[in-house]
Amino acid sequence: MNVKIADLEFEPLLSAEVIQTRVKEIAAKINTDYKDKTPIFVGVLNGCFMFMADLVKNITVPCETAFTKLSSYHGSTTSTRHIQNDLDLLIDISNRHIILVEDIVDTGNTLDYLVALLQSRGPASITVCALLLKPDAVEFSIEELKHVGFQIANEFVVGYGLDYMELGRNLNGIYKRVSA
Ligand code: 5GP
Ligand code: MG
Ligand code: MG
Repeated sequence: MNVKIADLEFEPLLSAEVIQTRVKEIAAKINTDYKDKTPIFVGVLNGCFMFMADLVKNITVPCETAFTKLSSYHGSTTSTRHIQNDLDLLIDISNRHIILVEDIVDTGNTLDYLVALLQSRGPASITVCALLLKPDAVEFSIEELKHVGFQIANEFVVGYGLDYMELGRNLNGIYKRVSA
């Protein structure tokens, strides 16, 4: 069923069931890769919160969780280049294995900034796990991007943590904007 969020209409793209199945597959791969490494999952707020929660519920190796907050969109449906660091990562990551958890990689600008910032703090390793990737929008090559849930077209999406004007984060599936 389509949903109306503020002034825009959205149609179903990925159901809650499809998302949960894929999240479990990603978790299984991480469980194998990070045996004996006690990784720190670092969620990038706000968009990551549902994905991060569902992902770590399926992690069986010892792990820590932490959050940082960046913003780049400021209420519109197109990316801005200015990244605001709203909440720095407040833990020591030196010699630790970091798994960055992102909702979506669009241009890659946000991740490029964040990976460089965290690399400067001397972690043992950094990999990135993103639920969504828009391959046609990516402008930065991010070699740390190891796990991608779904590749999607260059369309604006909401739900499962992602917002339009701060609305729609609570939807349990992902919806794409109906083209006018
Ligand atoms: P990037 O820096 O990769 O261009 O954009 C990253 C951030 O922009 C994402 O973490 C997300 O917050 C926001 N963003 C990018 N594409 C979308 C989209 O289709 N829908 C929503 N709701 N946010 C998006
Ligand atoms: Mg994000
Ligand atoms: Mg947003």
